Amino acid sequence: MRDLLATRARASPGDAALVDDASGREWTYAALDAAVERTAGRLAALGVTRDDHVGVLLETRPAFVRLVFAVQRLGATLVPLNARLSPTELETQRERADLVLLACEADTEADALTAAGAVPVVSVDEPTDSGVRVLGERDPEDVAPAEWTPEDDLALLYTSGTTGDPKPVRLTFGNVVAAAGASAFTLGVLPDDRWLCCLSMYHMGGLSIPLRCALYGTTCVLQRGFDAEETARALAEHDCTGVSVVPTMLDRLLRADAELPDSLRFVLCGGAPTPPDLVAACEDAGVPIHPSYGMTEATSQIATARPAAAYSNPETVGRPLFGTTVTVVDEAGDPVPTGETGELCVSGPTITPGYYDAPAANAEAFGPHGLRTGDVGYRDDAGRLYVLNRRSDRIITGGENVDPGRVAAVIRSHPAVRDVAVVGVDDPEWGERVTALVVPEDGVALDRDALETHWEGRLAGFAQPRTVAFVDDLPRTASGTVDRAVARERARAAADDL
Ligand code: ATP
Ligand code: MG
Repeated sequence: MRDLLATRARASPGDAALVDDASGREWTYAALDAAVERTAGRLAALGVTRDDHVGVLLETRPAFVRLVFAVQRLGATLVPLNARLSPTELETQRERADLVLLACEADTEADALTAAGAVPVVSVDEPTDSGVRVLGERDPEDVAPAEWTPEDDLALLYTSGTTGDPKPVRLTFGNVVAAAGASAFTLGVLPDDRWLCCLSMYHMGGLSIPLRCALYGTTCVLQRGFDAEETARALAEHDCTGVSVVPTMLDRLLRADAELPDSLRFVLCGGAPTPPDLVAACEDAGVPIHPSYGMTEATSQIATARPAAAYSNPETVGRPLFGTTVTVVDEAGDPVPTGETGELCVSGPTITPGYYDAPAANAEAFGPHGLRTGDVGYRDDAGRLYVLNRRSDRIITGGENVDPGRVAAVIRSHPAVRDVAVVGVDDPEWGERVTALVVPEDGVALDRDALETHWEGRLAGFAQPRTVAFVDDLPRTASGTVDRAVARERARAAADDL
């Protein structure tokens, strides 16, 4: 098969492909295809050929989408880099991924030049005095669209780096097509669908959207970043039918009190646990939330719940997607009975063939039941999945296993709590001591006694935090997930102070 866009542009050239919220510009599939052909020709003029790795350091905007499909047109592999990383982190990622070229924009040019080493840098924006080459200045070469097989690497996408250094995940053409199909079997596809992408496209949740829209022949609406008021406005203005968010964004959308349009038929919410309160708030506001569990290695979703199922059972992420198998295993790697907790292993056509150039990591990550996710959870009798926490986050105190996610959820349900992280801190007596970093709501008085009253009866004695530290914010990784290593350090310092 040719690249996804070329195939789509032949099938429905006149349909709306892309809308840019910032500029108001729109492209049909034919127009996008023509623009992509020019970009591909310019990349070819810079020497990019089949199987090359092309880095992209941009925030969400049409030029990013053009690069996604232009790299595909050449049969090359896309390597999106996280624009929020430091130049040193970027340099490490650039080296690991064997880039031949790094594309940037005006805002990321300085970082790209620092991180690129000997790799040429090219900007999608106007010339500046930094001397960086400008992609648009090249005369495009004629290119013959590459043929793809399911095994070819379409992208290398770095994980978020929550548990260590980000890992480059190989995503094949087959993975992307399978993930788009499986997702559609849960979310459905309608001809007039318009999916808002306000997430970064250097993460799976964002990158999936233009890829899937091209497969479905539906419209991708781009917004440069999330902002509660602006995103609510964009949803309404562009008659969006879908949007992907992480739970904190959805929480802000609901609190912003902005009217969400009636056109909205799915809000795909993943990347972190969706607090049950948030599901309840969605039910009250009529927001069609689809709580979802996914990871980069699974080309996005692993399991997704539909709204009605979520409202009646807010703890679950629903059933695994069609074609995805989730096996819960014990410490020895053997499957456990339904209802029992263990590590989640996943297999199926959406699962990566492995991390790029990492035989040792791959040998450790893949076993007889597929990829070991490092996440802990269980299935119920109806086959619904529950994700509790990461294996590495589990706290063992006085010989008891404590699920930090569950403790955090109980604390978060206190109305005066805005955010919370629960970690284990080494303790000579208990092994680990359960410690909570709590961010109170602005201007609200909150103390330990109030929290104790709240969790009494809701949490077992051994799970109740021994230490509570009130903080202004939680440490986060460049991807926005709670940086648990830093959280643990802060918790340790707080425990020492008390
Ligand atoms: P790294 O692999 O580098 O440590 P990461 O795992 O955070 O980073 P991602 O692939 O972006 O990188 O995130 C996937 C992870 O996010 C999952 O393995 C899981 O831990 C967490 N996650 C995603 N959705 C949910 C959910 N609904 N509930 C709980 N955890 C979730
Ligand atoms: Mg991970």
